[in-house]
Amino acid sequence: PSKQDFILAVEGLTVSFDGFKAVNDLSLYLEPKEIRVIIGPNGAGKTTVLDLICGKTKATEGSIKFQGKELTKMSEHGIVRAGVGRKFQNPSIYEDLTVFENLEVSYPAGRSVIGALAFKRDAEVIKAVEEVAETIFLTEMLHQEAALLSHGQKQWLEIGMLLIQKPDLLMLDEPVAGMSVAERKKTAELLRVITENHTVLVIEHDMQFVGDIADRVTVMHQGKVLSEGSIDHVKQDPKVIEVYLGH
Ligand code: ADP
Repeated sequence: PSKQDFILAVEGLTVSFDGFKAVNDLSLYLEPKEIRVIIGPNGAGKTTVLDLICGKTKATEGSIKFQGKELTKMSEHGIVRAGVGRKFQNPSIYEDLTVFENLEVSYPAGRSVIGALAFKRDAEVIKAVEEVAETIFLTEMLHQEAALLSHGQKQWLEIGMLLIQKPDLLMLDEPVAGMSVAERKKTAELLRVITENHTVLVIEHDMQFVGDIADRVTVMHQGKVLSEGSIDHVKQDPKVIEVYLGH
């Protein structure tokens, strides 16, 4: 594909922490609506790549073009507004609000909790909340307090809180960590539904899950891309085998 076909084009991305290059001249290209999974040993720089894309960490060098916009020059909020949603490993939901309220406060018109609770529940918001709740398997729990959800359900709720903001790119850091086998299966199902409308970038260690969801896999090692392609391609790549056996 030509460069215009990529929703995200990362080129020459580098960040140094006291001279140590956690990400070192990395390039990464995502096509719209693909699920890309980044794997690699601990310390490879995976989390730092997501931090750079969402603006939490500022690049030392390189560019991150998202739908034609240069993200390295934008604030974290600007990057969210440009359509990038990021879920961290630990869910940041409001435990004492219901599932409905958690989704409602995340609806773009009502970001602040106080504002959103005073906010009239107009038909548009209710419809959006109900649609997202169904996607994340929480329709039956809609009026329960979030504190009552299982660990897996809390993870889905946080994905829902991002989905309701309609990001074009959704970034997830180890979405199935701590989940049961059944919850992992449902999360794979959820990601397949999500990619009908969104591009997804995931960091994941569970190779079974990677095989279930990935369109393509990027293997990172020492801040660089070591290998890239289908799961079968990267699994058979001698460079990848060496790095994983060496650990
Ligand atoms: P991964 O997610 O692949 O395990 P990380 O991106 O978390 O790797 O980290 C890559 C390397 O960068 C690690 O050696 C880590 O210690 C280092 N690192 C990450 N963030 C910082 C920071 N803010 N300051 C200093 N070193 C950091």
